[in-house]
Amino acid sequence: MWFAGKIIVLLKEKIKKSKDYKHIRVNVILGPFTHVTPESLRSAFMLISEKEGFGNVRLNIQKNKAKIKCRKCKKSVEISAPVAGCPLCGADDFDISDAEEFSVQSIEITQG
Ligand SMILES: [Zn+2]
Repeated sequence: MWFAGKIIVLLKEKIKKSKDYKHIRVNVILGPFTHVTPESLRSAFMLISEKEGFGNVRLNIQKNKAKIKCRKCKKSVEISAPVAGCPLCGADDFDISDAEEFSVQSIEITQG
């Protein structure tokens, strides 16, 4: 799975600098519109990380909400699924933010 592979790439970059670690915590954010569930991401990641020789890596996965800002009623609303119009006034003139599918917020390495 692409998301899991992306985490591994980031981990490899980090680990290059500090090979001696006790455990690693990866803070991941899943966007509201992705079909990837935390469970499927976790199991895909476990598979790849084992193959790549990473141990003691914990994924902390958070599901994010997107925000729409309506240009008509000027209000901001959080949404967790795609919408065709503003939930408040129904206008289809709005901007969406925070809708990224996936992002790695931080990687915390505990030295051994
Ligand atoms: Zn509106």
